[in-house]
Amino acid sequence: MATPISHLAVPLALTAALGTHLVPPSLMLLALAYAVLPDIDALGLWLGVPYAHAFGHRGFTHSLLFSVLMAGAGALLAPALGAQPLLAFLLLFVCIASHGLLDALTNGGLGVAFFSPFSQRRYFLPWRVIVVSPLSLFALLSWRGLRVLGSEVRTVLMPCLVFGLTGFALRWLFGQA
Ligand SMILES: [Zn+2]
Repeated sequence: MATPISHLAVPLALTAALGTHLVPPSLMLLALAYAVLPDIDALGLWLGVPYAHAFGHRGFTHSLLFSVLMAGAGALLAPALGAQPLLAFLLLFVCIASHGLLDALTNGGLGVAFFSPFSQRRYFLPWRVIVVSPLSLFALLSWRGLRVLGSEVRTVLMPCLVFGLTGFALRWLFGQA
């Protein structure tokens, strides 16, 4: 996996770019949870579910269908969150689907089962530029962890920062900040 820091950078950048009038704080909180939700399958590793199983790590919870279903469920909550349902669906879909894409950019583990449950084939993207993160927090606080964070700063965090600041600046220029 990529670290939670990179996964959380996606909803934060989108919120900065779109503004709180489109992404109210309650929707942003849900989007943050959605960005890391696919890794709930890591619990299966501790329960003995094999990595390559359909419900193993990077299996169904990392699939596009799971993203669509969860974004649809989130869109049903949109009125209660003070958000537009279509925008909530799109935002939540991008946040949860980006999780699998970021994992597919890593250089370790098995690939991502984007098309589960229809196909259990695991995929990586052609550019595996993110050093895979260890699953334990203890291992992340090490030299290997620093290498992981360095690769994520270059490939995820800086692009997200530029995207969020550009969107914020454009809203400010056009009077919607
Ligand atoms: Zn993951």
